[in-house]
Amino acid sequence: MTDSVTPDIDFDALEKRYTEEREKRLRADGLGQYLSLSGTFSSFDADPNAPTAFEREPVERRTDIVIIGGGYGGLLTAVQLRKHNVTDITIIEKGADFGGTWYWNRYPGVRCDVESYIYVPMLEETGFVPSEKYAKGAEIYEQCRLIARKFDLYRDALFQTITKTLAWNETTQRWLVRTNRGDTIEARFVVSATGVYSSPKLPKIPGIEAFEGASFHTSRWDYAFTGGDTDGNLTGLKGKKVGVIGTGSTGIQCVPPVAEYADELYLFQRTPASVDIRGNRPTDISWFKSLPSGWETERVMNFTLWTSGVPQVEDMIDDSMSNLCRETAAQAVARSEGVDEDELNKAEILRMERVRRRVEAIVKDKTTAEALKPYFHYFCKRPGFSDDYLQVFNRRNVTLVDTGGNGIEKVTPRGIVVGGREYELDCIVYATGFDFMTSFTRESGLSIVGTGGRSLEEHWSHGAKTLFGMQTNGFPNLFLLSMVQAGMSVNYRHSADEQSKYVADLIFHCLKNEVGAVEPTAEAVEEWVGLCMELSGPNRRFHEKCTPSYLNFEGNRPPELELNAPFGGGPLAYFEYLEKTKADGFKGLLEFTRHVVK
Ligand code: NAP
Repeated sequence: MTDSVTPDIDFDALEKRYTEEREKRLRADGLGQYLSLSGTFSSFDADPNAPTAFEREPVERRTDIVIIGGGYGGLLTAVQLRKHNVTDITIIEKGADFGGTWYWNRYPGVRCDVESYIYVPMLEETGFVPSEKYAKGAEIYEQCRLIARKFDLYRDALFQTITKTLAWNETTQRWLVRTNRGDTIEARFVVSATGVYSSPKLPKIPGIEAFEGASFHTSRWDYAFTGGDTDGNLTGLKGKKVGVIGTGSTGIQCVPPVAEYADELYLFQRTPASVDIRGNRPTDISWFKSLPSGWETERVMNFTLWTSGVPQVEDMIDDSMSNLCRETAAQAVARSEGVDEDELNKAEILRMERVRRRVEAIVKDKTTAEALKPYFHYFCKRPGFSDDYLQVFNRRNVTLVDTGGNGIEKVTPRGIVVGGREYELDCIVYATGFDFMTSFTRESGLSIVGTGGRSLEEHWSHGAKTLFGMQTNGFPNLFLLSMVQAGMSVNYRHSADEQSKYVADLIFHCLKNEVGAVEPTAEAVEEWVGLCMELSGPNRRFHEKCTPSYLNFEGNRPPELELNAPFGGGPLAYFEYLEKTKADGFKGLLEFTRHVVK
């Protein structure tokens, strides 16, 4: 069937192609196709930013609050607590500084992919001005450190320290926190903010460990080998053949600088990314300085409203992502007005068709251009944006090795094999992503034992069960900042803002009112999980038909992760739940709460 408005588009054929492409990529091993950076592969996890660990004696301490993780979640929670004049906070962080994602991800070309004026926190409070609409990772990292200094968070922070176990002591009403450095810390409250993209993964390809050249994951970029820094200048790649595996948001950011410096670059592609216009530009300082007080909150909300399908008078961000969401919002209105689903689906296909035509317009070699065209529904994967990724395929030193959806066959001591051909390489870069919404205990590496000696692993053996994605019954005074059963904005910073305020307000409420232990009842948790499952239905059904990715558990969701979904009502409704609970002085929560006064 063709369409009268766009006569050259055969929508049925495209739908069929989407299904075929998906089926090519579905694998029985699903998430099992990946390896974590542990055991045999723990050398991949070494911190290239701070190769030597500093020495210190184990710490024995009693503290009000332990925060695990110094990325956005941990940092913002600590800031909110400081604003309540809570001073006794110990932050435990695996890296050698604050920053989380922005500490670890220092690959060349790293930038935020949501506008920096809404993604980088606390611009108004710190006076920090991002230099570009999509700021470089190094700037975001600096802003995290600036926030930590401004709120005196370095004081009791324990860096290069991995939290291993948390055990609730019923008698003292405290958590006993133990680390890999022999620290023992007794804390009234524990906030686990271990991150959402913090557990890197490698593909389980035979031979990885036997490769004799340099190889590393993008979140552990080896500048000692490549030379240069996040700005490029990768002089160590002169004369080198480099293979990059992965074409997600990371791959499309790191490929252009590598292409500029390596003698030869081979990009191994399993699924092409959708790559739309980025439109990055320097910050207009006079515009930035003219913004009225309170602009940041308003702008952050404007984006979340658009991306939640709530039309506004103005789109303050006005970029490819917000335009996309404006279209989606218009579609939601059309749907409510009874526009046929078929028509809406066509609009969605046309959107991706624009992306495919952009590939044709930029990439000169027809075979390469064809292989770079994505065939899946737009929101099946995190949309990609770049002004220089597709252009690299016009360079003579760049070869796209399209694996036809199969991925790499094997790694040999000399290189990578695809389709029976060995590509000899000096270096392999794994841009192969992170665990996402899988088992909390596996991703965080934490062993947690709550009341009655019950472990969180056992408690969640049939899936995560939370209230607001942050608390669970049987684990008093424990807060988990994650995306599971929480309402997430496309702009993670907005969600981190709201979750951190909620947690800090609740902890402050307990400290002020001498509430010894707070935890939701099993009934409250059951109710929230039920609501999450009910509301996440449409999104789950959409993703079940998608090409495999981390967003749909590689198309093969394990039964124990059945309940691992975001709150399906969207970020705005979620923020309202948090606000309402706070506004009534946590009464609703405390009524349903095991509530022990110390
Ligand atoms: P990702 O989106 O999960 O991409 C992983 C890539 O590795 C995919 O292209 C995947 O192919 C490929 N891959 C995996 N196994 C393979 C194999 N055996 N052979 C060949 N290719 C293989 O990871 P990411 O790019 O690191 O991005 C993860 C998320 O982090 C993003 O979605 C974004 O939310 C966030 N992020 C944000 C920024 C930013 O803000 N600037 C930057 C980077 C990342 P398939 O597509 O076929 O699975």
